[in-house]
Amino acid sequence: MKTAFDERIGTALADSRLQAALEHLAFRFMTARNQAAADLPNWEELRTQAHAIKRHTIENLSTYLLQLEARVRERGGTVFWAEDAAQACSYVVELARARGVKLAVKSKSMVTEEIELNHALERAGIEAVETDLGEYIIQLAGEKPSHIVVPAVHKTRGQVADLFEKKLGLPHTEDVAKLTATARAVLRQKFLAAGMGITGANFAIAESGSIVLMENEGNIRFSSSAPKIHVAVVGIEKVIPRMADLAVFLRLLARSATGQKLGSYVSILSGARRPGEPDGPQEFHLVLLDNGRTRMLADPVAQPEGYASAAAGTVLSAGTAQPEGYATLRRQTLYCIRCGACLNVCPVYRKIGGHAYPWVYSGPIGAILTPQMLGFAIEPKLPFASSLCGACRDVCPVKIPIPEMLLLLRSLETESMPGGRWLERTGFRLWAWAMRQPWLYRLGSRAARFIPARLLAAAGPLACWRKTRELPVFPEESFRDWWRKRRAPPAGMATGRRP
Ligand code: SF4
Repeated sequence: MKTAFDERIGTALADSRLQAALEHLAFRFMTARNQAAADLPNWEELRTQAHAIKRHTIENLSTYLLQLEARVRERGGTVFWAEDAAQACSYVVELARARGVKLAVKSKSMVTEEIELNHALERAGIEAVETDLGEYIIQLAGEKPSHIVVPAVHKTRGQVADLFEKKLGLPHTEDVAKLTATARAVLRQKFLAAGMGITGANFAIAESGSIVLMENEGNIRFSSSAPKIHVAVVGIEKVIPRMADLAVFLRLLARSATGQKLGSYVSILSGARRPGEPDGPQEFHLVLLDNGRTRMLADPVAQPEGYASAAAGTVLSAGTAQPEGYATLRRQTLYCIRCGACLNVCPVYRKIGGHAYPWVYSGPIGAILTPQMLGFAIEPKLPFASSLCGACRDVCPVKIPIPEMLLLLRSLETESMPGGRWLERTGFRLWAWAMRQPWLYRLGSRAARFIPARLLAAAGPLACWRKTRELPVFPEESFRDWWRKRRAPPAGMATGRRP
């Protein structure tokens, strides 16, 4: 059955401008990433180290989160534990209301996209302005990011020029310097007028209670230091134990994301301004967001409700069989450092772009994260939208086994269907039975030679399958016939019975 996902894929494939933009992005970033990785002789060792640090942290998550909370509080910050998107949004909105904030500036943050914080602020009458240039462009366009790192990758220069003309009154120009200068002038006023700055965090260091933000434009530094209040909304999986661990991730993140050795600005922020300090916010609030992450961590055996969100419809019941090692694999989804490398290398993402995916997280990481956080109901075909080529696993700086995860999710999705996929199940059962009957196998392979491939393409479930695949032509002579003619078969084979 055709779904909204199929429709969006069709639209993306027919959009020649999008196709050009995606190809350009992938080529530019992957070339730079490959070069940056090759320049580091210990690249593979760093990936292994990063994987080990993430594994250790996720296995001891509560310990490090409590340590992080204690350190932030010691430095005068406030920590709020948000169980879900509604709690996180309501905390930020209520805080803004209590402090009389009318305008908030935001840095690029996937987690605030995930909880739709901008909408919550707007509903409360608080203006929220994105300050990353790409995010600002898509906010003006009323769209969602189409890439984790490059949110406006789908927009051409001409489209941005049209947008700035319509929304900002800038006479039409495709001069990049003029476009960026205009955005800069508008945003500068917003930075100065904002009562609250909202950021995410690339990492949160338990040992020191610091958050780490990497960027290229300086807007995060401005958002987190100019307004009186700084709120950081951070997924609980972003915690790392020690400052020393940061060195590993910093070497991997920018190289994997854009091929840079390091982002232009790396800020390590440890709370609000202290007495005697010349700048910085007066208040620092850390919102630690769960929103389904602990369900991904939980032991499935000890999880009576299944893991899918109630809103999206429960997908796995208590009785659903889960393959051995599933919990271990599932946890690795939380290792992700949102570098976007798996998107750039994915042959599917490179054709359909981010907006075809059903949620804010796109590409291979989106294909494993979305079903686990929202359930399969949002798009049952998502784990199937992959060639399983393994390129995502090969570039992932923290070595997440994405193809293995996809295979598990496929099997779980099939199990979760009422009665399973009966056609598929019945077909494979019949096939398994037929393959155990030599006479039927021989008869079938003979008969297949007389069925024109055109007929197979014309109707039935194979018609859809055949649209994108070549069905091999059956040879005039089967291997068995050929074998029989060439030499006498071993005893017992001539009759088709097992020796
Ligand atoms: S899954 Fe790996 S490659 Fe993909 S965004 Fe996350 S860290 Fe980067």
